[in-house]
Amino acid sequence: MTVPRYLSTQPGGRLVYAFFISHWLLSVLFQSLFQHRYAAHKMYTMPKRTERVLHFLAFLVQGSSYLDPRAYAILHREHHAFSDTDRDPHTPWLHSNAAAMMWKTKKRYSDYAHRRVAPEPRFDGDVPEWPWLERFADSWPTRIGFGVAYSLFYLAFATHWWQIAFMLPFHFVLGPVHGAIVNWAGHKYGYQNFDNGDKSRNTLPFDFLTMGELFQNNHHKWGASPDFAARWFEIDPGWQVLRLLAAARIVTLRTPQRAAFLEPIRKAA
Ligand SMILES: [Zn+2]
Ligand SMILES: [Zn+2]
Repeated sequence: MTVPRYLSTQPGGRLVYAFFISHWLLSVLFQSLFQHRYAAHKMYTMPKRTERVLHFLAFLVQGSSYLDPRAYAILHREHHAFSDTDRDPHTPWLHSNAAAMMWKTKKRYSDYAHRRVAPEPRFDGDVPEWPWLERFADSWPTRIGFGVAYSLFYLAFATHWWQIAFMLPFHFVLGPVHGAIVNWAGHKYGYQNFDNGDKSRNTLPFDFLTMGELFQNNHHKWGASPDFAARWFEIDPGWQVLRLLAAARIVTLRTPQRAAFLEPIRKAA
């Protein structure tokens, strides 16, 4: 049986796919666990040294599109406070497309990352800060350096031109791509378990794309729950990793709250 050329079984082709899938998943896993569940929500605690290790790993894995945890946390806390209103920093309902929404998000994020704008005090503080790393990670030489490394990998191992044309560019901007998927789809497409007074949705019952971030409807209802899945058929991969870290006592879960889908109580006839 002959396989199509684009499904190359050459070792080089397989390496490119493995790199793409693992970079995609690890990058969004760290965004979900570190920037989101830890920096923005403090769903778990850990010793300072462990925090530094996770912080550094988040930088390594996210590379050219690394997100400053403080700026991320401020933006995200605003999102929870103003979900789908005109003060929400990234609701899809005020933008004609995901690119326009992310462009506005990026400008606001940069204002916080570079401290050009002061947020409301209630959205700031209690975030992991590492000034040296933030400066280094956010510099153009660092971001371009990661981009060059991704490009060299593709030049060495790609087996087809279109891998370089259509897969490589994603590596440069994975953070914004994940943000666009979660913020756009998670408030536009899918089903609702809860009426939160906003337009949040659960897009995928098994969120293999963004490690649990697409359970926006559950998450806006149960804002402190480190598990974003609420019903028996929902699987949040990020939570599965987090519970392993907690079982190994690397982190300590801070709240007993767990998302749950409470069936309406039926009265006996
Ligand atoms: Zn959140
Ligand atoms: Zn949301």
